[in-house]
Amino acid sequence: MKKARFKVDELESDIFKITGLEATVGAFYEEWEEAPGPTPMPDISTFRDWDRILLNKYKPFYLPLCDLCCLCTMGKCDLSKGKKGACGLDMAAQQSRIVLLSCAIGAATHAGHGRHMVEELVSKFGSDYPLDVGGLSVLVEAPHTRLVTGIKPRTLGDLEDVLDYVEKEITHLLSCCHTGQEGDNIDFESKAFHAGMIDHVGMEICDLAQISALNFPKADPEASMVDVGMGSIDITKPVILVIGHNVPPAAAIFDYMEDGGLEDSIELAGICCTALDLTRYTNKAKIAGPLSHQLRFVRSGIADVIVVDEQCIRADILDEAKKVKAPLISTHYKNFQGLPNRTEDPTDEIVSDMVEGRSPGVVILDSDKAGEVAVRVAMGVFPKRKKSGIIPEESEIIEYATKCTKCLSCQRVCPNYLPLPEAMEAAAKGNLQPLSDLYESCIGCGRCEGEGVCPNELKLHSIIIGASRSKIKEERFKVRVGRGAISDTEIRRVGGPIVMGEIPGVIGIVGCSNYPGSWKDNAIMIEEFLKRRFIVTTTGCAAMNIGMYKNEDGLSLYEAYSGAFDAGGLVNCGSCVSNPHISGAAIKIASIFAKRKLNSNYEEIADYIHNRVGAVGISWGAMSQKASSIASGFWRLGIPVIVGPHGSKYRRALLGRKDKEENWYVIDARTGKRVYTGPAPEHLFISVETKEEAMTLIPKLCIRPNDTTKGRSIKLNHYIDLHKRFYGAMPDDIQLFVRTMADIPITMKDEILEILKEKGWKESEVPAPDPTLLPRLVRKKGDGNGS
Ligand code: SF4
Ligand code: SF4
Ligand code: SF4
Repeated sequence: MKKARFKVDELESDIFKITGLEATVGAFYEEWEEAPGPTPMPDISTFRDWDRILLNKYKPFYLPLCDLCCLCTMGKCDLSKGKKGACGLDMAAQQSRIVLLSCAIGAATHAGHGRHMVEELVSKFGSDYPLDVGGLSVLVEAPHTRLVTGIKPRTLGDLEDVLDYVEKEITHLLSCCHTGQEGDNIDFESKAFHAGMIDHVGMEICDLAQISALNFPKADPEASMVDVGMGSIDITKPVILVIGHNVPPAAAIFDYMEDGGLEDSIELAGICCTALDLTRYTNKAKIAGPLSHQLRFVRSGIADVIVVDEQCIRADILDEAKKVKAPLISTHYKNFQGLPNRTEDPTDEIVSDMVEGRSPGVVILDSDKAGEVAVRVAMGVFPKRKKSGIIPEESEIIEYATKCTKCLSCQRVCPNYLPLPEAMEAAAKGNLQPLSDLYESCIGCGRCEGEGVCPNELKLHSIIIGASRSKIKEERFKVRVGRGAISDTEIRRVGGPIVMGEIPGVIGIVGCSNYPGSWKDNAIMIEEFLKRRFIVTTTGCAAMNIGMYKNEDGLSLYEAYSGAFDAGGLVNCGSCVSNPHISGAAIKIASIFAKRKLNSNYEEIADYIHNRVGAVGISWGAMSQKASSIASGFWRLGIPVIVGPHGSKYRRALLGRKDKEENWYVIDARTGKRVYTGPAPEHLFISVETKEEAMTLIPKLCIRPNDTTKGRSIKLNHYIDLHKRFYGAMPDDIQLFVRTMADIPITMKDEILEILKEKGWKESEVPAPDPTLLPRLVRKKGDGNGS
């Protein structure tokens, strides 16, 4: 994108005279190879009709966490049993408003992160710094930005203009949550979809900036492997722990280490997305673990300095850091922690105050300065702290366990209902194994240690960690660092097989680490689909957790499977803000492989993806508002998302009714006729209770109207096979997905034919339409009534 700059030495008219004027006026966009599409810079109303098409197929099903609304002072209002609030709002509208609020918060968080990142990188590298996410192999460098805004960004400075648009939309969306604005739940839902779409643009901007300016791997399927796990940290060295999402301060720590030749003398490890992005910056950094490992790592005392930036950081991080005498540096105004801002103070003074214990923590808003302070403080405190942690030893655990009265209070507050009293009973007898068995299922929330929970004030989280010492020492795995974008070349290679259904599906497994079961469940699920030749993409804490598991050959899945976007490939795109590479791959299939216009052409591309690209998202341990906006960006593209049991706390599902035949018609773009294609995909957003349920749903939700008979038969084969394995029986809805005899998996033919006969199944008259939900895309009009 270019701005128009002009300079006027002297301009004189009847009423004024200007000399030496230099100005920049607005912005104009370079010519695309293709003409602008119909919807550049869409506002909240632009895709309302498209959203209603989806929301008519996938009706919201609300799961209120409580019956009250207390958002304004006219409340609190009881919205149960059809009652309305004092402002006239009903329960459905209130629940959808909360969905919108959550998505808007998520989108604002990513956009704010992007703005901060871009401003910092522009000030360091200049606004003309060129964007490069994969050289000539990634010519479509910003699929979301181009699709939504019509802008083709070339430089860091161009990203600021995209962010202007993103921020404007988020402001409008947030304003819709105010009392007395929207009153219709479906319109709230449509706005939540808008927040999701905008969020993927905001995240894309953030990752484009950091990939380009910090020289992260650029669409590299062979990006390097790094260590993950607490056991991989060398505790004989000073350790700096970074937590959060904004990588520049962490990168500055490494730069300072490197400049001083200290890379091998200090361990630099991270938690959450800062860790993932730091390993994209240097493969000398290590990943300590996902966000749920904050407490255990801090309490272990391994970290000599803790550096926090933004998002998903424990609010009590300063208290926890003080307990282990580890100084804390906050590098972001979003997370002051009540600490003094010492950005302008002399570095030597700050270092001395922290090393001598006069200051438990400081705010430093300059990345380079924070980097220097972190390194010098780590070296200064290392000999003094002697890694003092607060994790109890075995003998202490046994002593504590004898105090447990088995009141069950801790178990009741545990989100995973872990059998803590039982494990404490065994520990009192000297058997720590049951406590250690809880290690992988404990999400480190600390609720069991909350005020008033345990009558004996037992620190159960620390007790679990203490009982798991030997396990933690062995916690050494490998993760392939985030590769960023999917290359255009890869899209060209797999676009056909995906759209035909011959690659059975693309799975995006993303999100937080708030797992209902063991953190290994993600990897166990994913390995099944890698073996089945699905393409698996991942980001964020999910990407770490997938690495923290060894298969029967003793390899992490990143070591066992290729990093290419291809059948059987495991693709780590990077951190949370790398999610648009996953949704962007679907967009690129439509634009690069199918040659649909990309420029400002959202609705057509979403229609293409929904009907043709067998993709499904899973967020097994989704926790945050960001997870909801990420999911929402997938929904608007018509891509289904599955969440685990805690996901029902997002308060609503988008469920298809497979028994309602009228919901499952598409228009055949060749003839204009309406054609029944079955419930494909059946749901847009669903939470399930078990990983087995999720694994059965995944291949089913990859079914699309466009599948060829070969593709449909492959997908059905996976669906039926997994259903039989986990439920011991054939699914009861096969007849809805078999269009012709050729769709039937050959090895199951007799069994399926019998069921089809029982159900009165008839072969479809138009098994392979050119499916669309948009009448304007019909090339030859039918009678309009679908007959
Ligand atoms: S926003 Fe409406 S429903 Fe909520 S408390 Fe205020 S008046 Fe009641
Ligand atoms: S810290 Fe672990 S054991 Fe304690 S409540 Fe949270 S998940 Fe349960
Ligand atoms: S709350 Fe304390 S006393 Fe009660 S069961 Fe748990 S550990 Fe035992």
